[in-house]
Amino acid sequence: MKALRSPDGTPYAPATLAVTAGRPHGQNQPVNSPITLTSTFHHAGTAQPGDSVYARFSNPSWDPLEATLAALEGAELPGLVYGSGMAAIAAALSLVPDGGTVIAPRACYNTTLTLMQQQEAKGRVRLVLLDVSDSDAVLAALAASPAPALFWLESPTNPLLEVADVPALLTAARAAGVTTVVDNTFATPLGMNPLALGADVVVHSMTKFLAGHSDVIMGGIVTDSPELRATLHGYRTVHGAISGGLDSYLALRGVRTLALRFERGCANAAVLAERLAADPRACNVRYPGLETDPGHARAAQHMRAFGAVLAFEPARAGQPSVERAEQVSASVALWTPATSLGGVESILERRRRHANEPLAVPEALVRLSVGIEDVEDLWRDLDRALGS
Ligand SMILES: *Cc1c(COP(=O)(O)O)cnc(C)c1O
Repeated sequence: MKALRSPDGTPYAPATLAVTAGRPHGQNQPVNSPITLTSTFHHAGTAQPGDSVYARFSNPSWDPLEATLAALEGAELPGLVYGSGMAAIAAALSLVPDGGTVIAPRACYNTTLTLMQQQEAKGRVRLVLLDVSDSDAVLAALAASPAPALFWLESPTNPLLEVADVPALLTAARAAGVTTVVDNTFATPLGMNPLALGADVVVHSMTKFLAGHSDVIMGGIVTDSPELRATLHGYRTVHGAISGGLDSYLALRGVRTLALRFERGCANAAVLAERLAADPRACNVRYPGLETDPGHARAAQHMRAFGAVLAFEPARAGQPSVERAEQVSASVALWTPATSLGGVESILERRRRHANEPLAVPEALVRLSVGIEDVEDLWRDLDRALGS
């Protein structure tokens, strides 16, 4: 594709792809793809592959975003966009045959876990939850008989920031014939490309870093398997979890600045993690970029950036304190106390305030999504909110 490499054939770097992929490049073309507001298309006769028939089946408003998502994840096939990250996750989970076993992190995104547990309660799937940073446990589960159907991986996990040995686990899963899905929301395609590390399917909550402005809810899937893509596309068509044209436009507009936003967010997060780690008012700081973090060495091996999310437990007399955590959320002025992450604005929350948060997440844990503000302003606000 013309937009993916320079005229001399050199592939563009990810920061360039974020800007140029999926963009019209011909003479007289607009610089941005238009939003197509239509529910249907002029179409008579039997549909041929590639025809536009009805806007739940295909929509030109999705095309540039799907091309860009694929380019960023290093896929040949176009991505698939959905009406939310959870819609993409539900589609990916549908790949498990009835009664199949799913291996998943014991503490991953809470609603992913809720969906899996609902399906387990109905007998739809069998669930094996484990600590994905414990490679021996994962390798044993992958080798179990009967063979698991799916290995669901989040790394770093939300919100514990545990780092799995992603390349080793994906390679082992492939050797065992287990389909793998990686939720790459935290790392973003700039931080990690799971397909290149051996994943079959990558899912994103595009609501977060990809769209980046807390103004849309969208999801995305990328796979290089024509069979899996056809199944996932079919699922989207019949379940109808599609996105509107305006949201797709906004998400793509967000992706165009991903490299700048993510770079600044990661740099800010690294500064805040160092300061919190040295502060007696904080304990159990979790950030893969900290040299003392248990996931640091692994992350340094397979990730290009450590991300813009960190977590810590506000402390009183050296002990984690839920009261202090609530106080931080109530006292911040610049930080937004809210759920969600990945926007230009910094957001924090105590995760266990949600009833469906996994119990493996400590009660006082506060997750920080670090935005692109001036880091000294962010620190001053946090410092004040932490109190004396
Ligand atoms: C937010 C999030 C989701 C869910 O995405 P929505 O767009 O809110 O549906 C899934 N996975 C992770 C890691 C998330 O942070």
